[in-house]
Amino acid sequence: MQNICILGATGSIGQSTIDVVLRHPDLYQVYALTAHSQIDKLLEQAKLCQPKYLVLSNGASYQHAKQALLASGIKTELLSGAQALADVASAHEVDVVMAAIVGGAGLLPTIAAVKAGKKVLLANKESLVMSGELFINAAKEHGATILPIDSEHNAIFQCLPHDYQYGDLASCGISSILLTGSGGPFRETPLNRLSEMTPAQACAHPNWDMGQKISVDSATMMNKGLEFIEARWLFGLQTSDIKVVLHPQSIIHSMVQYCDGSVLAQMGNPDMRTPIAHGLAFPKRIDSGVKPLDFQTVSNFSFDEPEPQRYPNLYLAIEASDAGQYATTALNAANEVAVAAFLSGQIGFSQIAQVNQQCVAQMQGCQLDDINAIVEWDKECRSQAQQIISSYSREAR
Ligand code: NAD
Ligand code: MG
Repeated sequence: MQNICILGATGSIGQSTIDVVLRHPDLYQVYALTAHSQIDKLLEQAKLCQPKYLVLSNGASYQHAKQALLASGIKTELLSGAQALADVASAHEVDVVMAAIVGGAGLLPTIAAVKAGKKVLLANKESLVMSGELFINAAKEHGATILPIDSEHNAIFQCLPHDYQYGDLASCGISSILLTGSGGPFRETPLNRLSEMTPAQACAHPNWDMGQKISVDSATMMNKGLEFIEARWLFGLQTSDIKVVLHPQSIIHSMVQYCDGSVLAQMGNPDMRTPIAHGLAFPKRIDSGVKPLDFQTVSNFSFDEPEPQRYPNLYLAIEASDAGQYATTALNAANEVAVAAFLSGQIGFSQIAQVNQQCVAQMQGCQLDDINAIVEWDKECRSQAQQIISSYSREAR
C-alpha cells in the first residue's frame, strides 16, 4: 500500500490523480490533499479519499474551512500555510508526492518532497524551470525518484531505453528528441488578429482540458518553451538535441529518434490520467480509466513547424535556456505575472510575449546558488514584470 500526498488536489491534474487513485484502493491510500482556496471541492474530495490531512495554503480562509469541515463531519485534520504544505510533502509516512500546484507556488513544497527522498510525480514544470540544476542535484543527493507527468516528458521517458544514462544520447544511439505540441487554439488565426484574442478564446484548448494558466501558456506556446527547459533538465539534454514539432491532433505525445532510422512514439487519447497512472505504477501498468485509442477515428496525423512570429514565447524560452538559470527563472516569473494580467483584462494577448521579452532583457546575469536566492530572484523579476505592465497602462492613457 502506497501513501500519497496530492499537492494541488483541486486542480485539473489533482482531480485526475484522485480519479486514478480511487480505481485502485488496494494499491494506494491518500495521506494528504492540498488546495489554495476551493474549500467545497476540497471537502468533497476528502469525503471520497479520507485523507489524514487537508492543507489549505491560503491561510486567510482557514477559519471558514475549519467550520465547514466540522459541519461536514469528515474526520481529518485541517492545516494551513506554506510550512504545512512542505510538511505533508515530506512526512515520513508518505511514499509518493504528486506535485500538481500551478506555477512558482509549487517550488518549495516540491523541493521539500525531493529533499525528503520521495517518489515525486512531477506535473509542476515551473518548479523545475525555476530551479533546474539545484532540483536535479537535490534529487540525486537525497535519492528522490522524479517521474515526469507532463504528457510529453512522460512519452519521452517511455520511449527512451531502460538503461538510458542522464545526458548520454550518443551511447544509446539517440539522434534527437521530438517534443510535440498541438499549437493551441490560435494555430490558424491570422497573425494580425492575435492581439484581439480574449481569455475565453485562449482557454478553449482544442484537445486538452486544463487549468487556466497552462491553457494560456498553450495558446502562446510558452508551455512548449517551459517544456523545452523541463526536458533539458529531466533528461540532461542540449538545445541541439531537441526539435519542437507541431502535431495538432495531440495523439502522439512526443518521440525519440534513433540513429538507425527508428522513431519511437508514445500515443494515446489526450487524457492526463495516462501519464498519471504510468507514474503511479511505474515500472508496472495499471488501469487509468482512459478510453483505448480508436484508429478508425484518428486516421489523420499531421506535422508542422512552429512559426516564430506566431509563437515568440517558445523562442524566448529556448534563448533563456541557453542563457542560464537566472534567465529561465526570470522568464517563468514574468510569464506568470503577464498571464495573470492577461486573464484579468489588463493587457492584450500579444503583450504577454512583450512583457516576457522586456523583463528577461532587463533582469540580467545573476548567480543563483541556493533555493533562497531563487525565491528572492523570482520576487524581483515579478515586481519588474508588474512595473512593465503598469508602464503599458500609463502609455495607453
Ligand atoms: P489548476 O489551475 O487546475 O490547479 C492548480 C492547483 O494548484 C489547485 O489545486 C490550486 O488550489 C493550487 N494552487 C493554486 N495557487 C496556489 C498557491 N499559491 N499555493 C498553493 N497551491 C496553489 O492547474 P493544472 O492545470 O492542474 O496544472 C497544475 C500543474 O500541472 C501546472 O504546473 C501545469 O503546468 C502542470 N500540467 C498540467 C497539465 C494539465 O493537463 N492540466 C498537463 C501537464 C502539466
Ligand atoms: Mg505538456
